[in-house]
Amino acid sequence: MKKHNFSAGPCILPQSVFKEASQAVLDLNNSGLSVLEISHRSKDFVDIMEEARSLALELLGLEGKGYKALFLQGGASLEFLMVAYNLLENKAGYINTGTWSDKAIKEAKLFGEVIEVASSKDKNYNYIPKGYDIPKGLDYLHCTSNNTIFGTQIKDFPETDAPLTCDMSSDIFSRQLDFSKFGLIYAGAQKNMGPAGTTLVVVKEDLLGKVSRKIPSMLDYSVHISKGSMFNTPPVFAVYVSMLTLRWLKGMGGITGIEERNEKKANLIYSEIDLNPLFNGFTAKEDRSTMSATFTLANEDLKESFDAMCKEAGINGINGHRSVGGYRASMYNAMDLDSVAVLVDVMSDLERKA
Ligand SMILES: *Cc1c(COP(=O)(O)O)cnc(C)c1O
Repeated sequence: MKKHNFSAGPCILPQSVFKEASQAVLDLNNSGLSVLEISHRSKDFVDIMEEARSLALELLGLEGKGYKALFLQGGASLEFLMVAYNLLENKAGYINTGTWSDKAIKEAKLFGEVIEVASSKDKNYNYIPKGYDIPKGLDYLHCTSNNTIFGTQIKDFPETDAPLTCDMSSDIFSRQLDFSKFGLIYAGAQKNMGPAGTTLVVVKEDLLGKVSRKIPSMLDYSVHISKGSMFNTPPVFAVYVSMLTLRWLKGMGGITGIEERNEKKANLIYSEIDLNPLFNGFTAKEDRSTMSATFTLANEDLKESFDAMCKEAGINGINGHRSVGGYRASMYNAMDLDSVAVLVDVMSDLERKA
């Protein structure tokens, strides 16, 4: 039976990517060698790394604009501290929109003054703060574009003269933005780009080299840039699969092509949440994420039937995070509209039967 995988991460990737990646594990480009056994300094792998880096910049519209793309390790969680290590000299501003922002704030405090410019903690992060003042003279302002756990998404990014840094782990490449507004973007691959094990960092090079502290090589963006993202052995398989996914994305019409599909999926599920009296949306309507839809049952007694019906329909991974409860449907780029339609059918079946 076809499975519909709504897992928040690691998550769904295109079937064509899984097939091509499996083949390359056995034999990469008819070389008689697996992608897992060749040297990362071989031409075959250097080409993969270079294609991944240039596809990332191309898809974001950042080619020739002073940005570099890196595929690093340590997840988005390591970027929480690397951003501060490399950019925080005096004070930085953070917008706290959920668990991940909160963790980024905690790490940054080890390196300098952190000003929490705005927060939605007062309502368990079910909205995006608006209309706040941003202090002058920040080294950077940090935000989280999509709050994977709570299901909110920033639609209008803050206007600031400080460099804008953003954790885009769960919505990178899902919607068109003016990416040149950002000084640094990072994203763990396993949410919308590839398997776990690598993190994409896109950084404007002229922001680097300004802090007075010494930075250990592995944590220094400039070192990784100077070595072409190969200072040490990169996570070869994660980079390879990410490259295949980026190729797939380009073939889908790039970000504008995929955004249209993502909006259709989001509209479908949110209209069901709004129409069906058995379900309540968790977040403020204007801040709803196109990637992560969070909702609860109006009557918890129906949980057992709903869960059984989902299982029967091949739906996987919709349990909400423990800090929100209820359900969360992650609808990343690789998910078809059909899979969302299956979930929506189950939701309306429940109403018919209840
Ligand atoms: C999952 C997630 C993280 C954590 O990523 P790791 O790669 O596991 O460190 C950070 N930020 C956001 C927005 C996430 O969704």
